[in-house]
Amino acid sequence: MEAASQKRLQNQVAIVTGASSGIGQGIAIRLGQHGASVVVNYHSDEEGAQATKEQIEAAGGKALVVKADVAQEQEVEAMFKAAKEAFGTIDILVNNAGIQKDAALVDMTMEEWQKVIGTNLTGPFLCARAAAREFIAQGIRKDISRAAGKIIFVSSVHDIIPWAGHVNYATSKGGVAMMMKTLAQELAPQQIRVNSISPGAIKTDINREEWESKEGEQKMLSQIPYGRIGEPDDIARVAAWLVSDEADYITGATLYVDGGMTLYPSFAD
Ligand code: NAD
Repeated sequence: MEAASQKRLQNQVAIVTGASSGIGQGIAIRLGQHGASVVVNYHSDEEGAQATKEQIEAAGGKALVVKADVAQEQEVEAMFKAAKEAFGTIDILVNNAGIQKDAALVDMTMEEWQKVIGTNLTGPFLCARAAAREFIAQGIRKDISRAAGKIIFVSSVHDIIPWAGHVNYATSKGGVAMMMKTLAQELAPQQIRVNSISPGAIKTDINREEWESKEGEQKMLSQIPYGRIGEPDDIARVAAWLVSDEADYITGATLYVDGGMTLYPSFAD
């Protein structure tokens, strides 16, 4: 763990959606290590959420576990209310929750389409709206941060790389890219920073089937010039920096944290 002097988020409050596993869990733990009080949102895996909370508390931080489906307006509103009741305010939102339900276009059901759009696109909209309302009401908290609030979308390299067989997922992430830029433009005058982190291949449950098989792992590696599959903490460390005042002049940006996956590796020779 990093030294206390590097606690960049002291006295800030963060909500991380989908924080019971993978990238969201990694981000929640890092933000906690940097001094933030963290709302650990989960959808179904309460045990995973408790494990996240325990790791934050073991590092001396505060955490609150809140169940909510990000696609449901009432549940999102209730989560923000619980966060405010527990910690007084909100300074940071990490829109991380996301799912895949893959199928060829001709086989994709309405349920597969709507579930992915609901979780990956409507969810971040509902959470961003609730966060922005709170940031605007609160204004800048002097001595806490130069911004009135910070929002990060955990998007994907598939916000710019088309992905056959995943039209619901790629469309949701393409939508996230434009939502992020639009909100960055809209909220900058209120000193609210909005950015995306677009991961490449990171070892989590979402792609476990691929990286657990030798063949799948080799295929993934062939798409990554840097030569290794990412870990959740590769994203978490960037997120902790991006929401800190060290990144105060960054808004409307997408950071591709992907080991070079967006560099068209098949053109390398
Ligand atoms: P993951 O499956 O471990 O995490 C996804 C989390 O979202 C889970 O904790 C899940 O419970 C939660 N979730 C799902 N539906 C939800 C809902 N309706 N409400 C609240 N939470 C919900 O996978 P991950 O890789 O950690 O994914 C996190 C984010 O990173 C996703 O947005 C994903 O699209 C993105 N991403 C992942 C990769 C990768 O290679 N792992 C690459 C690019 C982008």
